[in-house]
Amino acid sequence: VSKTLPIVISGAGPVGLVTALRLEQAGLPCIVLEKSPEVQNDLRASTFHPPTLEMLDEFGLTGKLLEQGLETPNWQIRMHESGDRALFDLSVIADETPYPFRLQVEQRVLCELATEQIDNLPDVDLRMGHELTAFSQDGNRVSLTVQTMEGESYTLETPYLIAADGASSFVRKQMDLPFEGLTYPETTILATTEFPFHQHLEGLSNVNYIWFNQGTFSLLRLPGLWRCSLYAGAEQTVEEALEPANIEAKLQQVVPRDEPYEVMEIRPYRIHQRILQEYVHGRVLFVGDAAHMNSPSGGMGMNGGIHDAWSLTTLLPDVVRGTAQAEILHRYTRQRQPIANEAILQQAHRNRSRMQERDPQKRQQELERLQGIAGDPVKAREFLLNSSMITGLRRSRAIS
Ligand SMILES: Cc1cc2nc3c(=O)[nH]c(=O)nc-3n(C[C@H](O)[C@H](O)[C@H](O)COP(=O)(O)OP(=O)(O)OC[C@H]3O[C@@H](n4cnc5c(N)ncnc54)[C@H](O)[C@@H]3O)c2cc1C
Repeated sequence: VSKTLPIVISGAGPVGLVTALRLEQAGLPCIVLEKSPEVQNDLRASTFHPPTLEMLDEFGLTGKLLEQGLETPNWQIRMHESGDRALFDLSVIADETPYPFRLQVEQRVLCELATEQIDNLPDVDLRMGHELTAFSQDGNRVSLTVQTMEGESYTLETPYLIAADGASSFVRKQMDLPFEGLTYPETTILATTEFPFHQHLEGLSNVNYIWFNQGTFSLLRLPGLWRCSLYAGAEQTVEEALEPANIEAKLQQVVPRDEPYEVMEIRPYRIHQRILQEYVHGRVLFVGDAAHMNSPSGGMGMNGGIHDAWSLTTLLPDVVRGTAQAEILHRYTRQRQPIANEAILQQAHRNRSRMQERDPQKRQQELERLQGIAGDPVKAREFLLNSSMITGLRRSRAIS
C-alpha cells in the first residue's frame, strides 16, 4: 500500500470529524465522506463530559465550546412533587480534571467548529454530499465507490476505512455484522422550549432527571432553551402523546401556567442498546454509534465515540507507516469494546431503569441511597469519576 494514500472516514458526525482532526495531527492525510450536504444540526447530544473536553482542548476547540455552552457544576435526580433531590457536585473531582463540570452545548456546535477547522487543513479533504455506496477489501487495501449528490460516481482506494457512519451504519450492514442488543419499549418525546424552568422550579440544576407521580421526565438546559424528555402516558399511544394538546398537558404538569407553552420542536425517538463484538474487521474499523448505541441517559454516546476515536488514532498511525504490526489494532477493540459495554451501555441502562421505576417506595429508597452517596465526599468522588466517564477511560487506557 502506498503510504501516501489517505485514510477514508465515512461519516462527518462528531466522531468522524474528531477522528479526522486526530489523524491530521498525527500527520496522516484523510478523506471524510458525508452523504448529507450539510453538517447535521438535529438536536442530539447536549452534554460534554470532562475527559472529552480535555481531548478537544488539543485542537483548541474546548475554549470555543465553553464560549457557546453552559458550564454545569452539578446535576440532580429529583422528586417533582416534593422537590427532594440528590445533588451531585462535580467540585469533588476538581483535582482530577481541569474541567470539573458537564458542559451543556449541542453536538452540532462541535460539528460546526470542527468543520471550520478542517476547512483550513490541507490534509483533511471533507467531501459533503458524497455517499459511500459500496466497498470491498483485500489484504492490501479497501476499494470504495462513492456517489455524489449530483448522481456522479467515482472510486477510491485506501489502506483503512473508518466507519463513523452512525447508528444505522451502511458499512456495518454491508458486512452483515451482528449488532447485538435490544430496543427499549418506550418512545422518548423530546420537546424544546424557551420557557425558563429554572425560574419556576426551586434549586433546579442544568441537568435534571425527575420522577413524578405519573412517570418520569428530564429537563436539560442549553443556552437559551430547555429540552424536556417526555413519555406517553399509560393509556396513550405514541401518536396520541405527540399531539400538541397532549404535549401541552405534559408541560403543564412540569410547571402549571396560565399561558400555553411555546414549543420550538417536538421529536420522538426510540432508544437502543446494541454493540459490535469486534471493532476491527481487517481494514475496516468501527467508531462511535456505528459500533455501539446506548440510552442517552447520562449523556455518554457521543462522548464515548470521541473516546473511541482517541484510542484508534493513537494506534493507527504507526500501523499505516509500517512501524507497527497491523495486529496492534486489536488493542483498540480490547481497550474500547468492554468499556463501552460495561461503563457506557450497562451504566446508561441502569440510569434509564432507575428513572423508569414506578414503585414509590423503591423510588424513595433509591433517592435516599443516592443522597447518601452525594453527601459522602469519598463515595461522591467515586460516583462522579464514573458518571463523568473518567474511570472508564482510565481503565481503557490501562489495557494493552
Ligand atoms: C436525543 C438524543 C440525545 C443524546 N444526548 C447525548 C448526550 O448528551 N451526550 C452524548 O455523549 N451522546 C448523546 N446522544 C448520542 C449522540 O447523539 C450520538 O452518540 C452521536 O451522534 C454519535 O456520533 P457519530 O459521529 O458516531 O454518528 P452520527 O452523529 O450519527 O454521524 C454519522 C454520520 O454519517 C453519515 N453517513 C451515514 N451513512 C453514510 C454513508 N454511506 N456515506 C457517507 N456518510 C454517511 C450521516 O449522514 C451522519 O452525518 C444523544 C442522542 C440522542 C438521539
